[in-house]
Amino acid sequence: CGIVGYVGRRDATPVLIQGLKRLEYRGYDSFGIATVGSAIEVYKKAGRISAGEGGVVGLHGCTGIGHTRWATHGEPNDINAHPHTDCRGRIAVVHNGVIENYRELKRHLLERGHIFRSETDTEVIAHLIEEHYDGDLLAAVNATLPLLKGSYAVLAIAKDTQRIVAARDASPLVLGIGDAEVFAASDMTPLLEYTERVIFLEDGDVADITPEHLDFYHGGLKTERPVELINWCVE
Ligand code: GLU
Repeated sequence: CGIVGYVGRRDATPVLIQGLKRLEYRGYDSFGIATVGSAIEVYKKAGRISAGEGGVVGLHGCTGIGHTRWATHGEPNDINAHPHTDCRGRIAVVHNGVIENYRELKRHLLERGHIFRSETDTEVIAHLIEEHYDGDLLAAVNATLPLLKGSYAVLAIAKDTQRIVAARDASPLVLGIGDAEVFAASDMTPLLEYTERVIFLEDGDVADITPEHLDFYHGGLKTERPVELINWCVE
């Protein structure tokens, strides 16, 4: 599947739609977008983004995440499409990969009173972040990742914060660096119309992304990741 994210000053929705179209070749049974305006707003739908983009109306905000799905757990339908949210609609996530221990995590979360809407493996991530969230999205994602077994590239957003927390393990994720804006995507194709400066996340990396700063963590410690210049000139 493909995931995209945007943090900056633009209206996030058209950036995300365009990015998802570029990633559609990676998976296309459903698509969805979530933005952070005054609340988390979500639109998701079975089918291709190119067929359904006209339905995406009324999403606000300059921070957002998007997904084009290739289902592994749960049939392709509107409810199983990403993004997935927590019980209170404060957290939204998109995920590429498979959470192998999701049944056990879901059982535990159900016992703690969480209400699940979808049949996906992914939804446990939103509820686990909710369990650990007290206003600090980075801390909540950091507390969640060690509980996950499997593969993931994840982007998470939370109400009241213009930030994306991104993480990867065994699924690809690349960031595009603009001027007070950052793009995230499964591969470089959505980034190229905006910037030539990219950063490839490594397995185990977590990135805290805001318009003002971009910080990387690995194994709980702050780290640096080099900016690479993509030169598309053909000799
Ligand atoms: N395992 C997740 C799902 O089935 C993500 C699939 C994907 O990478 O598109 O919803």
